[in-house]
Amino acid sequence: MNNFPQTLTIAGSDSGGGAGMQADIKTIQERHVFATNVVVAITAQNTIGVQDSFPLPLELVTKQFESLAADFKIRACKTGMLADAEHVAVVAQNLRHFDFGPLTLDPVMIAKGGASLLADSAIDTLRSELLPLATVLTPNLPEAEVLTGQKIQTTADFKIAATQLQKMGAKNIIIKGGHLDNSDQACDYVLYADGSDDWLNTPRIATVRTHGTGDTFSACLTAELAKQVPLKKAIQISKAFIQVAIANPIAVGHGHGPTNHWA
Ligand code: PLP
Repeated sequence: MNNFPQTLTIAGSDSGGGAGMQADIKTIQERHVFATNVVVAITAQNTIGVQDSFPLPLELVTKQFESLAADFKIRACKTGMLADAEHVAVVAQNLRHFDFGPLTLDPVMIAKGGASLLADSAIDTLRSELLPLATVLTPNLPEAEVLTGQKIQTTADFKIAATQLQKMGAKNIIIKGGHLDNSDQACDYVLYADGSDDWLNTPRIATVRTHGTGDTFSACLTAELAKQVPLKKAIQISKAFIQVAIANPIAVGHGHGPTNHWA
């Protein structure tokens, strides 16, 4: 009993179902892994944008962690939208207290439609309290720029930024280069804890249906880590998974619709 691979997503709810916690749970389920969740914030959202959001009381966030720790054997966890500095701090406090396995930290900041999912004033807390707990940090290009304070344009910049992020305490870094628009490739740079590195290059797919792609990638990674797949292999599986999903969008909503998770 209690030995089926179990994960935890600590994130914001997307009422539109394509990103956030819902994308995490759908993805983890598709990878044949069980997903538990700590809801940090609730968004009123669809494929057109984020209409409103509301962070949950801090005590209720901690209570969710306690409920899960009392029952489940969680083997890997991830974070998504964390709203503000107070919520980042309380999540970090709980992750230091409980052992939920390797942490994939997706430093979600701004939705594609432009809505803020993390207050600017939370960046310092994210850097100092959560980055040192991360087994894998998965920023996209703008997020890596905010965290390092550096512009990233060339391949050398990716390496410099990843090294800086590693010095801040995250063990393995994946900088997702999808926002680099002068390339026909979607290039992700991986810097491993042992100092080795990798480029993951896939052809760029022209589509607006990319809602929740970051969440889906990091959720897939979390599921694979819960199965104890080695990190390098787990990253390759997740990259292939998101590439197929982006190539197969679902026709729902009027805006940046979600990718097809079960392609
Ligand atoms: N909404 C929530 C609650 C999220 O956690 C995220 C990403 O983590 C998004 C929206 C992002 O959506 P998009 O992929 O459209 O930027």
